[in-house]
Amino acid sequence: MTDKFFWADDIAEKIIKEKVGKSEYVCACGISPSGTIHMGNFREVITTELVVRALKDKGKKIRFIYSWDDYDRLRKVPMNIPENKKKEFENYIGMPISEIPSPFDKKLDYARYFEAQFEKDLKPMGIKPKFIRQSEMNKKCKYSSLIKTAIEKRKEIMDVLNKYRKEPLDENWTPLEVYCEKCKKDATKILNAKGYEIEYSCACGFRNKIDFRKKGIVKLKWRVDWPARWFYEKVDFEPGGADHSAPGGSFDTAKKISKKIFGYNPPIYQLYEWVRPKGGKEFSSSSGNALSLSDGLEVYEPEILRYLFVGTRPNKGFPIIFDDEIIKIYEEFDELERKYFEKIATPLENRIYELSLVKMRKTKPEKTSFRHLITLVQTGKTKNLKGKEKERAEKVRNWLDNYAPEEFKFKVQDKIPEDISLSDGQKKALNELKFALKNKNLTEEEIYNKFYDICASVGLKNNEFFTAAYNVILNKNRGPRLANLIMTIGKEKIIKLLEQVR
Ligand SMILES: [Zn+2]
Repeated sequence: MTDKFFWADDIAEKIIKEKVGKSEYVCACGISPSGTIHMGNFREVITTELVVRALKDKGKKIRFIYSWDDYDRLRKVPMNIPENKKKEFENYIGMPISEIPSPFDKKLDYARYFEAQFEKDLKPMGIKPKFIRQSEMNKKCKYSSLIKTAIEKRKEIMDVLNKYRKEPLDENWTPLEVYCEKCKKDATKILNAKGYEIEYSCACGFRNKIDFRKKGIVKLKWRVDWPARWFYEKVDFEPGGADHSAPGGSFDTAKKISKKIFGYNPPIYQLYEWVRPKGGKEFSSSSGNALSLSDGLEVYEPEILRYLFVGTRPNKGFPIIFDDEIIKIYEEFDELERKYFEKIATPLENRIYELSLVKMRKTKPEKTSFRHLITLVQTGKTKNLKGKEKERAEKVRNWLDNYAPEEFKFKVQDKIPEDISLSDGQKKALNELKFALKNKNLTEEEIYNKFYDICASVGLKNNEFFTAAYNVILNKNRGPRLANLIMTIGKEKIIKLLEQVR
């Protein structure tokens, strides 16, 4: 980033400037929990949280809300449903996702299962919004007066929506969805709507007249629901994904409906682009093997995961790295941290560092690099690690188990491989290495220099020497930095292996 100001601070300033006279600012975000909330969806909540923190840093009072849009209908049988439940789920299509049993947890409903998982994962990230279940809000009839307004201004809403449509809406279109009291599905038709009363019939044959102040089966359609809730919660800021942000998309129409129908000035809006996994699985929540926030937390420290989002403007997409570039990300963050505590970081870098932290800290924590831990973990030398270092070692272990390319994995040999074949030059060089290591005082740097001395004196190419050493120690042609590997494993053990070279 070359910008002078940090993006979330810019947004905060805009909010303060445009939303005059508020004693408390409302920052909102939300999602329909129709499947696993994946890492791409996480951008919604962290974008909001960063604006919340920026506003708080300016001394403002904030209400930070996260809406679970779980009164939405089940559109299709999700792919993550176990095979033996798929038939059962076909019967649920058209029902609110909050009213369907979870196939994964008998105690929870379909939506709640995914909500609970994500709420749990947000805690270590230091993100604590107030969660609002729209199923509960709707069932408690909280929006009944807004629903009445929408019915009364049906024509004006249609005018707004039709401006962006090729085919105009049907004459009998209503802004409502009604869930049948008998079969719970939305296969309903509104026969009459007046004041707080509607009469409906359902494809199942049921028919009734209800007062929607008393029966929470009526919900506004998305494009009307969104601005209605801005008005209800008095939202000042909300981000939206690229899908909502397209010209004529739901934000465009929501802005107009908010003003025209509910008389409310729409919130400051921030588009965010998608993030994609690199070196992991796909993010799609319907595919059933989406990478969730907890998958991310298995290999990333919370603050480094935050750092990825803090350091990139919301309107830019970026990959969430699961392959070996993760080493670079950790190095980048450690470097930022070092500069921060040595007070040599730029103001922007300072801001990025602070907002990446879950909790502010006064001193630089002890850390071992991700790269070095790859060696420590695989040589069993993690027993003495404590605190942050121990935590990081666990991330490295998980990364090695699940994502690391083969070249990063190794096992220190107890015996040299039986089928090893070494040239005379290689044998000679390894023999010299053995003698060199018997000098116990050799430092890592001295060992490193020795490699090149040995190659020169034996007349062996450097790469032939390294290949031989890695074959003896790891039964592989490559490995982590050799001098560091030798020091980590311990010279004694290496000497024992080298003694077997004949
Ligand atoms: Zn029905």
